[in-house]
Amino acid sequence: MAIIDKGSGKDGFVPRTEFLPFSPPVIEKEEIEEVIDTLRSTWITTGPKTGLFEREFAQMFGAEAALGLNSCTAGMHVALAALGIGPGDEVITTPNTFCSTCNVIEHVGATPVLVDVERDTMNIDPSKIEAAITSKTRCLLPVHYSGHPVELDTINAIAQKHGLFVVEDAAHPVSATYKGKYIGSSSNPTAFSFYATKNLTTGEGGMLTGTAEFIAKAKVVSLHGMSREAYSRYDKAGSWKYDVGFAGFKYNMTDAAAAMGIWQLRHLARNQARRREIVERYNAALGGSEFFETPTERPEVRSSWHLYVLRLNLETLTIDRDVFIEELKARNIGSSVHYIPIHMHSYYRNKYGYKPEDFPIAYSNYLRMISIPMNVKITNDEVDDVVAALFDIAEKFKR
Ligand SMILES: *Cc1c(COP(=O)(O)O)cnc(C)c1O
Repeated sequence: MAIIDKGSGKDGFVPRTEFLPFSPPVIEKEEIEEVIDTLRSTWITTGPKTGLFEREFAQMFGAEAALGLNSCTAGMHVALAALGIGPGDEVITTPNTFCSTCNVIEHVGATPVLVDVERDTMNIDPSKIEAAITSKTRCLLPVHYSGHPVELDTINAIAQKHGLFVVEDAAHPVSATYKGKYIGSSSNPTAFSFYATKNLTTGEGGMLTGTAEFIAKAKVVSLHGMSREAYSRYDKAGSWKYDVGFAGFKYNMTDAAAAMGIWQLRHLARNQARRREIVERYNAALGGSEFFETPTERPEVRSSWHLYVLRLNLETLTIDRDVFIEELKARNIGSSVHYIPIHMHSYYRNKYGYKPEDFPIAYSNYLRMISIPMNVKITNDEVDDVVAALFDIAEKFKR
């Protein structure tokens, strides 16, 4: 156990007196007024504001159709269920993701198959996907990690060649582009997250995009499996008659959440511009240091910069990542780790017998990664505080 130092004061380092949180939400007066307006209206469940949010979201990102849901997890679960994926099927995904990406595969009774990540982006490595495909494989579930789009053309081509579906975990890349096209504009079912820490938040919420035909089906699956189609041909609108053709879920978005989302979406471009400024400030200060590796952005993409994942060059330091995080906390800097790889969680380890080294690139990078404060609330001075704390720790524990 290393002794935590509050900061040596060496080279003029002055630790912050107030804790800098990793990712607080930004809620403005427009969001608040729109939520109040919703509460004063007669619609507090799914209603006109959800419809408006869905249309504006689809329009902004070039999606054919969009479905407001109560989470990204719900979106991925609905997508897999609506595609008919179930027991006996295999779904290929990445170990470097939040647990829910993999949990939804378990929810539908299918088997997750993990493929290691690329060294630079830490996204699923397309060159390793084909070796993992079997006669049971039905779907690829890539994650646009940190907001950096995956190599979509290659992944879609592999899927086409083998007759597989592609469902995209788009919890991070809202407003990101791949070869000039927005994530969410493809025909793949794509699930966005509006969780409290995400670039666009509704507290809890999500959006599923895809073709109009698929979204119509997903809508039924997301709401008890209730369908009015069988009756709508000869009944007046608003009929009490419906049919349940599938034991569906209860995943709809509320209008109070959509009220926030409408304004979060309208504020997004401005907020994204600020994120890029912060990235540039971090890159300028940390790039080229022997202690750190800064995140990449490939030329054909624009990342949404949901996360700024710094990697420690551990061979230059006498402490490990966990102690480094404690040292940051002692200097009043919040940080996090994205993610504890799927195969290291006890459920997956016990069920599938994984060892940490089974996915060596995901594992070795997990040991080095720290997500440093990345949100539109932080000021340039606060970015400089983070940088100063990082160097204070690195110099103190230099090998
Ligand atoms: C946040 C997140 C999710 C889950 O999103 P919810 O909206 O909370 O369900 C899924 N995948 C990734 C990569 C995430 O970061």
